[in-house]
Amino acid sequence: MAGEPQDDCLFCKIVAGNVPATVVRETDTTLAFRDINPQAPTHVLVIPKAHHPNAAALAAADPALTADVLTAAQAVADVEKLDSYRLVFNTGAGAGQTVFHAHAHVLGGRGLQWPPG
Ligand code: 5GP
Ligand code: ZN
Repeated sequence: MAGEPQDDCLFCKIVAGNVPATVVRETDTTLAFRDINPQAPTHVLVIPKAHHPNAAALAAADPALTADVLTAAQAVADVEKLDSYRLVFNTGAGAGQTVFHAHAHVLGGRGLQWPPG
């Protein structure tokens, strides 16, 4: 069922506390933690605690939770004192998605090129 924890999902394991993570912020519905392989001085992943395979599936299943993720991303930017930042939702393996539990990358703390690679 949409939103149910998946046994084989790394980010569900982080939500459950079965895999450690450096948590920077938590709400009832979201968790924000530092990426293990940071691509910028600030690189935080913001996830819904409920399992959805990507951002589009999350938006279709639970618009309010999607908004929670965006609000949590701004809160991370605030505590990290980022004036500018980039939010990335890699969607699909061809775009670099490797963990199929919806997550926003919050990237900042350095100049970010546009267009992205
Ligand atoms: P994706 O490539 O799916 O958009 O993003 C997945 C992100 O998860 C990658 O940036 C990767 O570095 C990060 N990641 C993979 N395994 C772990 C882990 O065990 N802990 C943390 N904190 N991040 C991870
Ligand atoms: Zn999951």
